[in-house]
Amino acid sequence: MISREEIEKGIAKYPIFEYAFFNTDELNFYPNVRKICEAQCPQYGNSWSCPPAVGTLEECRQRCTNYKNAFIFSTISEVKDILNMEEMLGARHEHTDIVQAVHREVFGKDADVLVLTAESCEICDVCAYPDARCKYPEKMYPCIESQTILVTEICENHNMTFLNGHNVVTWFCLILY
Ligand code: SF4
Repeated sequence: MISREEIEKGIAKYPIFEYAFFNTDELNFYPNVRKICEAQCPQYGNSWSCPPAVGTLEECRQRCTNYKNAFIFSTISEVKDILNMEEMLGARHEHTDIVQAVHREVFGKDADVLVLTAESCEICDVCAYPDARCKYPEKMYPCIESQTILVTEICENHNMTFLNGHNVVTWFCLILY
């Protein structure tokens, strides 16, 4: 298994803002997060990377706690206007590129890891869900909240900042290994 030192060495070349390591025993799974997805997110029921496609609460808990170790990192993007969707999407692509690089280059593309990241997968213009299988399962990263995990709680527990100022977007990635 990859060591903490190897991960720290591997991520040094990427523009990572903050990071933390912890044991998956610390993870809490909140049914209310699933309710918020259902009530407020347009991606609910529209993506393989979101509920209900990611499985029941119990399946998510099982999947996540099958791993012993957790590594969370954040990246930040400064945008001119946080309400400008085009700008936000561009900033999000930069974060996704870093997530992919850390997954493949640091952990290894064949490593047994669960990579969770910000928001719904956007690889395909139109998600294949529910009519066909996911087109790129090896590249698709479910949303952290889809597993009913609260990023804010992890941030509080590990002195990571969730809000970094006006027009600054903070993106997260949680890798279980
Ligand atoms: S890779 Fe395509 S099919 Fe799979 S979750 Fe992402 S958008 Fe949907």
